[in-house]
Amino acid sequence: MMTSLGKCESPGCEEAAKLQCPTCIKLGIQGSFFCTQECFKNNWKSHKIIHSLAKGEGSDAKKDNSFNPYPFYNYTGNLRPFPQTPRRTVPASIGRPDYADHPQGYPLSEQAVKGSGHIKVLDDEEIEGMKVACKLGREVLDEAARVCDVGVTTDEIDRIVHEACIERNCYPSPLNYYEFPASCCTSVNEVICHGIPDTRPLKDGDLCNVDITVYHNGFHGDLNETFFVGKVAEKHKDLVKVTHECLMKAIEIVKPGEKYREIGNVIQKHAQAHGYSVVRSYCGHGIHRLFHTAPNVPHYAKNRAIGVIKPGHCFTIEPMISVGTWKDEQWPDKWTAVTADGLWSAQFEHTLLVNETGCEIMTRRRTKNGQPHFMDKL
Ligand SMILES: [Zn+2]
Ligand SMILES: [Zn+2]
Repeated sequence: MMTSLGKCESPGCEEAAKLQCPTCIKLGIQGSFFCTQECFKNNWKSHKIIHSLAKGEGSDAKKDNSFNPYPFYNYTGNLRPFPQTPRRTVPASIGRPDYADHPQGYPLSEQAVKGSGHIKVLDDEEIEGMKVACKLGREVLDEAARVCDVGVTTDEIDRIVHEACIERNCYPSPLNYYEFPASCCTSVNEVICHGIPDTRPLKDGDLCNVDITVYHNGFHGDLNETFFVGKVAEKHKDLVKVTHECLMKAIEIVKPGEKYREIGNVIQKHAQAHGYSVVRSYCGHGIHRLFHTAPNVPHYAKNRAIGVIKPGHCFTIEPMISVGTWKDEQWPDKWTAVTADGLWSAQFEHTLLVNETGCEIMTRRRTKNGQPHFMDKL
């Protein structure tokens, strides 16, 4: 006896099923087994309708060709791009950063100070501005967390995020930043960061990181979390748990007088102790009136980051921790960063404000009575 796939799905065929439709596998559709290529071919016309349905394309027969924008790219893992929806717009009444209307999305204000290395010390008014932006960013991420589930597309998450930003009088900072086409980043499974939301429905067992930055009243607030989609394998749950621990252990050492380069030592020590690796190509960053600025905050050990932590500094820590190699590469879309071996990666991010004794996690999770969420405690 062995586990059987049951009978062929071809009407009237009593043969045992042996083959699964490759498009169904790609789309995450359960089932769809046939006995032979012959039966599969004879049923193609009616069978392919479920592909269109899964892709949310109704019965439009013209759209059911499998989407393959980069036929010559060798994917490192199992994830594939799906079609994207048209760009969303932000009402003109909402204040926008300079790059929002630049034809190439260039943040000219950031570029003007690039390379200076100067770390801004925020005054009381700027600190208040950051607190508000970070609190609103947290609310938007919590909205995304509520809908992130099996069968939901990352484009749907992007729509929820976009609308949650507008409701709060925020511009979604990623939108048009160097021409990024969406309002948040959604990074699934082997995607390390900067995944573009698309019409792929999330599958049972996926990891989905949602990275939110909002721009409100002249300030950016930035955070991200990795969510479980349905029932996640223990090994991937452990990856996510350890990644969160890496972030929280790094935050613990943030205080005036500490060097920025120490942060990576703490993160890599913990990741390595659990057999994981630390992504090196993407770093934490200063954030305030500018989305990404000094300091640069590497997450790996023995880095040569410049600068000493001082009260009034505002920056992110956002470790990306991988099951296999630390090496990354980019999809031909010029954004999606994936692990070079296709094994999975997780990330968590907070925006921090340095005070006299340590730091305040400005993007901390808040419950109604003001208590932190269990994930924010060590
Ligand atoms: Zn972020
Ligand atoms: Zn960030």
